[in-house]
Amino acid sequence: MSTVTQGGPSLPQERRVVTEIPGPKSREMFARKQAAVPPGIGTTLPVFVTHAGGGVVVDADGNSLIDFGSGIAVTNAGNAAPRVVERVQRQVANFTHTCFMITPYESYVRVAEKLNELTPGDHDKRTFLLNSGAEAVENAVKVARHATGRQAVVVFDHGYHGRTLLTMSLTAKNMPYKQGFGPFAPEVYRVPLAYPFRWPSGPENCAEEAAAQAIDQINKQIGAENVAAVLIEPIAGEGGFIEPAKGFLPRIAEFCKTNGIVFIADEVQTGFARTGHLFACEDEGVVPDIIVTAKGIAGGLPLAAVTGRAEILDRVHVGGLGGTYGGNPLACEAALGVLETIEADDLVGRARRIGEVMLPRLRAIAEKTPIVGDVRGRGAMIAIELVVPGTKEPHPTAAGEIAKRCHAEGLLVLTAGTYGNVLRFLPPLVMPDHLLEEGLAILEKVISEI
Ligand SMILES: *Cc1c(COP(=O)(O)O)cnc(C)c1O
Repeated sequence: MSTVTQGGPSLPQERRVVTEIPGPKSREMFARKQAAVPPGIGTTLPVFVTHAGGGVVVDADGNSLIDFGSGIAVTNAGNAAPRVVERVQRQVANFTHTCFMITPYESYVRVAEKLNELTPGDHDKRTFLLNSGAEAVENAVKVARHATGRQAVVVFDHGYHGRTLLTMSLTAKNMPYKQGFGPFAPEVYRVPLAYPFRWPSGPENCAEEAAAQAIDQINKQIGAENVAAVLIEPIAGEGGFIEPAKGFLPRIAEFCKTNGIVFIADEVQTGFARTGHLFACEDEGVVPDIIVTAKGIAGGLPLAAVTGRAEILDRVHVGGLGGTYGGNPLACEAALGVLETIEADDLVGRARRIGEVMLPRLRAIAEKTPIVGDVRGRGAMIAIELVVPGTKEPHPTAAGEIAKRCHAEGLLVLTAGTYGNVLRFLPPLVMPDHLLEEGLAILEKVISEI
């Protein structure tokens, strides 16, 4: 057993497999989980975690796994990051809650100031804080409807926005997110996404044709004057790390501007340095009217934000927005620690470097291995799409099998995709190079064995 008693970056940065995975202690706890927690709460890898930091997750049996998941793009700045730990420890001893709507505190305002400053565009902005990505998406839609006096919300194929009633209605994929959970929220309309790998006439025409189709559907089926908001992930996350073909996002944003529609970027998964920009919209210079953030914002403490044009957010009457816990003081301190870490440790540059290491290695694997149909992504948000060799037919069983074998070797990877055939890689941005290399070597070996 490891003698380490503390998580964070001081954990030994090594892969260590000392039992089968999951080991006996994890298996015992998993049996308890199955008796106490409903199966609807799934488990990617049933190892029970005791410590995490840098590029590793350590389990109850003493295994140290290389983390290519970051708890779904949350621990961008690392688990138990020192600046986060220090601030949260100080705060937890001072006070844990007052409710910002009852008696406020400075850290909430500081987070709002920072997001107003750091998000794309130099217009006058406002920010309010919530607990989860889904709650923030819901609030962005509330604000857009209130400001425009319109009801329709346009979303895209392969989109994922959460699991509450409105956000699962906004989400594209039926199984597992929507199956049996209807009826869904009204006034939600779905249009095509520019998915280069699967665009029928090929990737060259994808941006222009997809944008034309989307805009035509909006005009014909809804009427632009009835649309409150267009909501899009600048890179579709759960849908399979689909980067819309270049030109698509700017075209949609321009259409929104012309028609008085609020353009909302859901940067819950892409935000906070993940893609090699602080926010993914920056890649094409797109300035959203509202940007929704969560996941990477606070190192895992529950926090989410809606940031947008002052003239839109200021329209809502006093008391129309809020929640008991939104912008909890511990979560706000954590967010300030994350933002300091991103800046001080140049995590934007670090994300780019991770992409520069991973993409060529994965492309070389794809050259040799016809099961890998596509390699894509930006910064440290990278994926491979698996297909039946010689076709573009999705191959979800291969994705599942590769993930399972990686887990057995001590490499934590996640799957994704509308067709379940995408392996996605989201290392913490603080992962040391030698673990990144070791993780890639395991992937290469496992894929070649499939
Ligand atoms: C995870 C995610 C959400 C939902 O966030 P939760 O915190 O799980 O509610 C919304 N949008 C995107 C793009 C996400 O990746």
